[in-house]
Formats: sequence, C-alpha cells, structure tokens
Amino acid sequence: MLSIRAKLTLWYLSLAALVLFAFAVTIYLYLSHGLLNAIDTSLVNQAERVAHAVGHPSETEEPSQPGVLILAPQFVSVVDRDGKVADQIPDAEGHEVPVSKPALERAASEWKPQYDEVSLSPTEHVRIITWPARDEDGETFFVVVGQSLREVQRAQRQLVILLAIVNPAALLLAGLGGLWLANGALSPVDRLTRAAERIGRGNLSERVEERRSQDEIGRLAATFNRMISRLEQAFERERRFTADASHELKTPLAVLRGDIEVALRRERAPEEYQRVLKSSLEEIARLTRLTDDLLTLARLDAGESVLAIEPVRLDRLAAEACAYIGPLANSAGVTLHFDTPQSPIEVEGDQKRLTQLLVNLLDNAIKYTHAGGSTRLALSVIDSFAVIEVTDTGRGIPASALSHIFERFYRQTDPRDSRVSGFGLGLAISKWIVDAHGGSIQVESEEGRGSRFTVRLPLQTNDAEPERHRG
Ligand code: ADP
Repeated sequence: MLSIRAKLTLWYLSLAALVLFAFAVTIYLYLSHGLLNAIDTSLVNQAERVAHAVGHPSETEEPSQPGVLILAPQFVSVVDRDGKVADQIPDAEGHEVPVSKPALERAASEWKPQYDEVSLSPTEHVRIITWPARDEDGETFFVVVGQSLREVQRAQRQLVILLAIVNPAALLLAGLGGLWLANGALSPVDRLTRAAERIGRGNLSERVEERRSQDEIGRLAATFNRMISRLEQAFERERRFTADASHELKTPLAVLRGDIEVALRRERAPEEYQRVLKSSLEEIARLTRLTDDLLTLARLDAGESVLAIEPVRLDRLAAEACAYIGPLANSAGVTLHFDTPQSPIEVEGDQKRLTQLLVNLLDNAIKYTHAGGSTRLALSVIDSFAVIEVTDTGRGIPASALSHIFERFYRQTDPRDSRVSGFGLGLAISKWIVDAHGGSIQVESEEGRGSRFTVRLPLQTNDAEPERHRG
C-alpha cells in the first residue's frame, strides 16, 4: 500500500508531466506551423513574381531570365501542361524542383496554387508550390517553386532537444516540490498519529497538541481531543459505577454473613433463629432491589430496553401508583394527596416505565419526609406538555447536592434517619425514563422545608419511537 505522501507526490508528478507534455506538443505544433506558414508565404511571393516575369516578358527588363531575385535555398522551374521544363533555376546545391504531374493537373483544373511536400533524400524534404499562370498569348504554364525544409527541420530538432532537457528537469523540480508540499501537509497528521498511539496504549489523560489555526488539522485535533475527553469520562463513570455497585453488593452480603456466623456459633433458642432469619430476609430483599435496579440500568445502557410506546392514560397510572404506594405512606405516617385532574390526560409512552417513574418519585417523597408530613401528586396540562408534580414537606435537599442527585449511586442521607434505605439509583433511572420519553425533569428544594419534582412529558409525539437516551 502506498502512503498518502507517495500517492500525493505521484498524482502531483503525473499532473505536472501531463501539463508539460501538452505544453511541449503545443509549442512544437505552433512553431512548425509558424515556420511552414512563413515558407508558404515566401513561396507564393516568389511564384507570383516569376509567373509575372515569364507571362509578361515585355514588362520586364530582361525577358530571357525570370528577372527576379531568387532567394536561396529556393529553386524554381517553369513548366508547361505536360511537365516539360521551359526554364529553371536550381538551388545552391544544384537541386532541381521535382515536378509532380498530379499537382499540375490539380492546379490546372482548380486554377489554384497547389502545395506539396516531397523528399529529395530520406533527410531532405522540400515544400513545393505549383502556381498556374497564363502568358500574354493566353498559353497556360506553371511556375513550380520549391524550398528545402532543412531549416525548419533543424529548428524542430533543436526544439525537441531543448524540451527533452528542460521537461525532465522541470518534472524533477515538480516532484521534489510535490514531496515537500506533501511532507509539510502531512507532518501534523504524523504527530497526531503518534499522540493517538500513546493514548491508545492506555494513557487517556493525554491530549494531542492543538494548533491555534482552525484549519482542517486544527479541527481534527480539537475533535480528537473532545472524543478522548468523552471516552475518559465514560471510562471514569464505568469505573465508578462498578466500584459503587460492588460496594453496595458487598455491604448486605457482609451483614448477612456476620449475622449467620454469629447465630451459628452456638445453640440458640428458636426465637433467636427466627430473628436472624427475618433480618437475613430483609437483607436479601435489599439485595434483590439493588440487583433489579442494576439490571434495569444495564439494560438501559445496552439499549436493550426498547420502549413499548402506546397511548397511556397518565391520570389512571397516577391513581394506580398512589394506591400502590399508599400503605407505605401510612406506615411512615405521611399523608399522601392526589389531585385528580379535571379531565383525562393522555401521553404516548411506556406504561411500565412511567409507573416506575411515578413510584420512584412518590417513594422518595415519603422516604425523605418525617412522620406527620405530607406529600402531594398533581397532574396538569401546560402548553403541549403533561406536567407531573410530586411535592413533599420533607427534609429538602441541600443546594450543593441538587446537581448530583440524578447521578448513579449518589446518595444524600441523614445518618440519624434509619428508615431511609436506598442505593442512589432511583433518580438516575427516573431521569433516563423521562429523557427517553422526550421530556424533562426538574427539582426545586429548600432544606428543612421540602422538595418539588416536576416532570414534563410531551402530550403527543409524532414519532412512533421517541429518541432514547442513554444515561
Ligand atoms: P435513593 O433514594 O436510593 O438514595 P435516589 O436516586 O432516588 O436514591 O435519590 C438520590 C438522592 O436524592 C437521595 O439520596 C436523596 O438525598 C435525594 N432525594 C431524592 N428525592 C428526595 C426528596 N423527595 N427529598 C429529599 N431528598 C431527596
């Protein structure tokens, strides 16, 4: 495989060769054409003058001679219709004009000068004009003037030699220039590749050098760096998630193991065993909830959980969620209000996931509200959104924690409150569900006074499947 550098140079070289070749051919043709034209013009002049001198001897001073100046290396013949030579002037080297019968016939029939090229020897070519004319008695005769093309051929040869020297030299220069240009253009790419290799070996904190200019390479480096940053963040999230998940799994397992080991150390009364088994069951329930949550998140991340989108009566879902969570509120001594909306509210969404969202929010509202407090679920329609509000009079969330509560495993708990259990996954899952439905979730909270979670879901989406969000 050729490198881009070699390919660019080759392309550049081929293009330069093509241009130079075209240039050489054009020059050669132009020069040849120009020289031949000059010769033809001179032949015409000569033929005209000889024809006049021969045809009208009374008008010339020396009638026996074609009293005209013959320019070497031209040579002239005056012939009749049959090609018989009446008079002739050979050239300096004694060459006589070769008379061509067909040219004579053509000249006579068309009454037009005829141009020909004949070879005297393999190296000597002659340009010939056959000029028809009439003398004073009306007799037809022909002036045949020839001129050797030796000078033209020499000029052509010299031009070819010149081009054969200059063109390869120009091509060499073009090749070197092309290589220099390709090197200059590609060296930043080499630097980028080396940096990418270093990063690929595992050093995700490294970045490629960004140039100040916003050219193609500058933009590539900036894009590459942004991609590495996102990768680094994703790896960091993954690492934290695994660490947090194993930590959360380890704690209930350690409690379970400790309780059982202590219980087995000696013989105990049946009530004692019952107590240990009950507490073990609670830990197992906690573990089950955690693994359920982890599984949900893993599925969401893998994009496996395709939403089963259908028209959903949000008011009915809300009533069902309240009925489901009611006993929990009762046992916590927290009042749960549900403001039944005036008219049905319908959205397009996944019934199971939307129920999960409502239960998560209500569960938190009850969990983080002291006995005697109250929570409220209200539904309304604002613009083209169904708005779900879950309000509580609980302990509230410190301002510093507000931006973190939707992160996985983020928890803000009061160590004195033993009722509060959880893994910090509920709101992360809730946010994913809202995003996947094309909605938004917001929180307002005041420490010690309570919180309000507001979810907006589009009433109707035209797409069959809203954009899915990976949390
Ligand atoms: P978990 O409830 O399991 O801790 P979540 O993801 O549901 O996890 O909530 C994350 C954190 O947000 C909680 O630890 C809590 O500090 C805070 N939070 C959530 N909802 C409320 C609420 N209604 N009132 C006060 N704090 C809340």
